[in-house]
Amino acid sequence: MNFEERIMINKLFKNRYFLISLQFLTLLGFVLLVYGGIGITTNDKDFAKILRNTNLANLIVWSYWWPLIIATAVLFGRFWCSICPMELVTSFFGKTGFRKKPGIILKSGWVITLFYLVILVIGIHTLAIHRIPQYMAVYMLTLLMVAVVSGLIWEKRTFCTHICPVGHLLGLYSMVASKGLRVKDTAVCRDCKTKDCISKSNHYKLIGRSCTSELFPPKITDNRSCILCGQCHKSCTKDNIVIRKRKIAADLFSGVRLSWAEMGFFVMVSGFVIYEVLSEWKVSKKFVMAVPDWVNHSLNITGSVEGTVKALVLFIILPGVFYSLFAILKRILAKEDWKTSFNQLVLAILPVTASMHLLKALLKTTSRIPYWDFVFGDPNGVTTAQMLTEHPEMLNKGILTVLWPYIGIIAVLLSAGGLVLSFLIIRKQQQSNVSKLISAVAVLLYGGLFLVSLTMWRLF
Ligand code: SF4
Ligand code: SF4
Repeated sequence: MNFEERIMINKLFKNRYFLISLQFLTLLGFVLLVYGGIGITTNDKDFAKILRNTNLANLIVWSYWWPLIIATAVLFGRFWCSICPMELVTSFFGKTGFRKKPGIILKSGWVITLFYLVILVIGIHTLAIHRIPQYMAVYMLTLLMVAVVSGLIWEKRTFCTHICPVGHLLGLYSMVASKGLRVKDTAVCRDCKTKDCISKSNHYKLIGRSCTSELFPPKITDNRSCILCGQCHKSCTKDNIVIRKRKIAADLFSGVRLSWAEMGFFVMVSGFVIYEVLSEWKVSKKFVMAVPDWVNHSLNITGSVEGTVKALVLFIILPGVFYSLFAILKRILAKEDWKTSFNQLVLAILPVTASMHLLKALLKTTSRIPYWDFVFGDPNGVTTAQMLTEHPEMLNKGILTVLWPYIGIIAVLLSAGGLVLSFLIIRKQQQSNVSKLISAVAVLLYGGLFLVSLTMWRLF
């Protein structure tokens, strides 16, 4: 037995009840969080900015649960999916549903990209589901309903494979991770007569299912699609499945081919991460907001639609223009086709985006620490939010003063580390020197923006 087979994670994944118990626990947590947000609402935008941190459910969902999902995906892979309550729900309803095959539209991956786009532009930046607990609860219930309905209509776990709005995000970030699920020995799979890991008769078992993510374990070559549900650990009768260590960003170095839907998704996320990180500092925020503010002002747009326009400009138009310009240069100067050009740009920029998303997760979780003084005494958070509106000095930020210098150093190191990884990936890419130079300039502009802003903000 080698090291990988002995490490705890594989023992836990082989245990019949470990993951499913955690899924039931997260389902219970999910229900409690929905309950904690229902009925807590406001029309006051400024009040909502405080309420989002004083309502216990909202604080957990957006400042801890969500950042933790991002962090685990980047560092370890899609481990969140292995305990996600939606997988449990959709697989459970799949047992009694119509089991229709997903059509070409679902399989294209664009449903995931568009679902995420709607949540980002309408949900977050127009309706503020991240600030108003009642809206957060409605959003979570909507997700749950989509998981139930898709389980009833489509076969296997179509929700996880083709609908989940964060499927591409976790899949793309998991390519950076230093862990991956593979078979121990492909020769064993070649000789395996039963193929229990894909056998139809195992598709709807509660524990020890064959893979319902359309994967055949010996053919897995990258981390994007395996949701680490651990079912094949249990269904493989030859004990041939293992989660093992691998080189950081191995899939990016190997030049994985992405779909258009994944690339479209990533273009949007790279714009989103710029906004999320650079709007933490008022100087860089002014720079980031210059174009959307100008558009809103020129078109005389006010109210919540301002947020819609801001999101469209920052997450679609500007990143779309950025990637298209560099792809055009690659087309003209390096004679590459569109898909290859975009693919190389996305793989090159991904480490910077992932490292900056990781930083945002860290900034969010730490900056909310002072609110924990209040949330247990007043879980719905309305009274606390009113009190903090009148007496903001009651928020004790002492701990943040201690943490800030360390976070500053981590911020600069993460941005520099992302840049270095991006350049190493470009060096390995199978492309001409001209094409590599174009990718390097794109990374330098994108990653340099973070490095310069964060260095100026945190260290000077
Ligand atoms: S993973 Fe296990 S069940 Fe699947 S083909 Fe290989 S040995 Fe057989
Ligand atoms: S290969 Fe399939 S069954 Fe195995 S962990 Fe990944 S998603 Fe689950």
